Amino acid sequence: MMPPHDPWLALQAWQATWLAGLDPAGLGRALREARLQRLIGRARRDSPFYARRAASARRLEDFEPVGKAELMEHFDAWATDRRITRHGAHAHLRQAAPAQAWLQRYLLWTSSGTSGHPGLFVQDAASLAAYDALDALRLRGTAPLATGLDSWGPGRCFAYVGAIGGPYAGYVTLRRLQQLQRSVPAPWRPRLTCLSVLEPLAQVATRLQRLQPEVLITYPSCAAALASWQAEGRMALTLRELWLGGEQLSAAQRQQIGQAFACPLRNSYGASECYSMAFECSHGRLHLNDDWVVLEGVDAGGRPTPVGDFSHTTLLTNLANQTQPLLRYTLTDRVRFDPAPCACGSAWPVIEVQGRGDDVLQLPGLGGSPVVLLPLALETVLEEEAGVTRFQLLVHADDRIELRLAVAGSENEGNAAAAFERCRQALQRYLSLQQARQPALLHGRGAPAQQAGSGKLRRVIDLRRDGHAAGPSSVATPHPPR
Ligand SMILES: [Zn+2]
Repeated sequence: MMPPHDPWLALQAWQATWLAGLDPAGLGRALREARLQRLIGRARRDSPFYARRAASARRLEDFEPVGKAELMEHFDAWATDRRITRHGAHAHLRQAAPAQAWLQRYLLWTSSGTSGHPGLFVQDAASLAAYDALDALRLRGTAPLATGLDSWGPGRCFAYVGAIGGPYAGYVTLRRLQQLQRSVPAPWRPRLTCLSVLEPLAQVATRLQRLQPEVLITYPSCAAALASWQAEGRMALTLRELWLGGEQLSAAQRQQIGQAFACPLRNSYGASECYSMAFECSHGRLHLNDDWVVLEGVDAGGRPTPVGDFSHTTLLTNLANQTQPLLRYTLTDRVRFDPAPCACGSAWPVIEVQGRGDDVLQLPGLGGSPVVLLPLALETVLEEEAGVTRFQLLVHADDRIELRLAVAGSENEGNAAAAFERCRQALQRYLSLQQARQPALLHGRGAPAQQAGSGKLRRVIDLRRDGHAAGPSSVATPHPPR
């Protein structure tokens, strides 16, 4: 079964997205308004959840903000197609290969996200067409007329390093593109190799060295770790481009990655809830895809944040997805709208995002040199092998690792102890694969501490780093890849 794809919708999305790029403030705004009205109508008519919750809503501001936990609780009443049920989705995920169509028309992916609640997201051909168009025309194309058609160009060699094998947004998206290209004759087909972020970094570096990809696709933290291998001469990749996403790219990471690989970086801001929210221009600024996405920054009391200030949280309205409507959905990211126009000349709004800032860990290695552990890898091990989603891993000054867990029914000591034991075994296996010396691992008494400002749950925190000495709850806020 092929992944969802509709050539007619794809053509329409490309045309509309391209035209909007010529006139963001005029046509872009008009498209946004028309899409919003359609989404509101569809949600109120075909989603029992919204019909009940927002019966009289006419405008976007009439919708009360909604969070992931509430939507997941009402999963079967949320979508606009009554065949979409949690039971059916899980059954599909158990049997089908990633990117295989569900109910012949949907793509499914999951997220754990920073709130610690697992999410299950359904994409239809129309939303996928919009994400494809945004990727090709804005993220990969630097000017309105550069269509980015060559980004998945003939015979190009791509390597993806991320969470693979499961229904993760980044991996599913790449597998879908790969499967859609199957009909292309082999010499013109892009070649894509997926490497697991769970592999020891040395092994990843060796495989990349053999592969010599032209484009590397990964998370900023992983790219930065690989950049130090490249800088130290332990790896010599000649990249044409580096595509980054899934985490916030810090200025330090940008510099380190840029120096090591000396190639253009294409960075984006997306989430499992909306795959393509903003794209980075040649000036390193993020531009909001304002015709397909509504983002509203709000303060702690839910009031709109003034332009120029960072928000407390952000409300997302995804105008591309009419199957699983997201109207004023709370994202824990902080967003700031920059009132100054960007020097690149693009009229799409400029935003800055402060998202999750998990730490890359260094632990003593068995061979003497330290071992680098990526937060994404640690999170994947704990989620997939130990089955926990709300956790916090804290590395103390003496290299001890404290694991705090919020387990369902955690009032029951037995549940918590069993979960900790699963985590301990999964971490031990993972650390020995990485050739790291086994640290002392203790079961933290407290619950995972949310960040004071945003309520965001940082899951991997290195207390040995500067500025972290005061403990996780007072750490300053510093954030799906493709
Ligand atoms: Zn710009």
